[in-house]
Amino acid sequence: MQQRYVTLPDGTKVPALGQGTWFMGESQSHAEQEITTLKMGIEMGLSLIDTAEMYADGGAEMVVGKAIKGIRDPLFIVSKVLPYHATYQGTIDACQRSLKRLQTDYLDLYLLHWPGTVPLNQTVDAMQTLIMQGKIKRWGVSNFDVDGLLPLIQAIDDKQLMTNQVLYNLSRRGIEFDLLPWSRQHHLPTMAYSPIEQGRILTHPALIHVAKQHNVEPAQIALAWVLRTPDMIAIPKTSSPDHLRANFQALAINLSDDDLACLDSTFLPPSRKKPLEML
Ligand code: NDP
Repeated sequence: MQQRYVTLPDGTKVPALGQGTWFMGESQSHAEQEITTLKMGIEMGLSLIDTAEMYADGGAEMVVGKAIKGIRDPLFIVSKVLPYHATYQGTIDACQRSLKRLQTDYLDLYLLHWPGTVPLNQTVDAMQTLIMQGKIKRWGVSNFDVDGLLPLIQAIDDKQLMTNQVLYNLSRRGIEFDLLPWSRQHHLPTMAYSPIEQGRILTHPALIHVAKQHNVEPAQIALAWVLRTPDMIAIPKTSSPDHLRANFQALAINLSDDDLACLDSTFLPPSRKKPLEML
């Protein structure tokens, strides 16, 4: 089994399948298992880890910090600043706190978690300062729809924005109507969060049917579906070694036209613009 890679606008290749961390770091009794699973994932090649200052109020970043200790350099660590911290100084301070919790000197990618009320130019200026200081390598956004991305890309130089992390899975296909085509036109890779809808779609008959055809689990089909195009990064969260192995194996699944048609007939593609969904 091999990892696949997605090329960011600056030419950096990142794993198509990474690891999410929402709900990690919430309880001391689960921390060891979370650290062990993240480490196992890293050994398999799931070296992109997504976290955020928001998750468990910094607890998830602390878990990641323990998992990456001593093996930092080959990894691609993503964290996010909360919109209400995203003033110029607020962003710089939030990044510094994240670095401390992660026990690292730099983030590979720093995202604005969702659009807020702070003028975006402040956040962008802070991102540029953080790059100059060597505290982040690159930046991007999350939960931005086309109407938010348009003014942003007009205000910045080409190839600064590295990704938009958004909700995307079989039951959340709204971005296919306009955001995904727009992102492709602008060569902006997408990072799909909640790629298995936090487990809620796994008992769906169509998914079970396709999974049976491939002799795999529904979650693996859900992931293979998200990963079916070359510009999509998926960051499922798991604290279970069995789920981790299953998720990794999803990289080897090729969905046929019949599989895709079966899934399309139940999980309908969008026929009109919908507001961007968020979790
Ligand atoms: P996911 O779709 O990744 O689902 C995670 C849930 O599915 C967990 O309960 C996990 O349980 C379970 N699971 C994982 N793998 C399997 C499997 N193979 N079989 C059965 N169950 C499985 O949801 P998330 O919301 O966690 O999204 C992924 C990541 O995206 C987050 O962790 C976070 O990093 C990021 N995110 C970003 C957001 C943003 O606003 N930018 C919003 C939401 C998420 P178990 O641990 O027991 O395996």
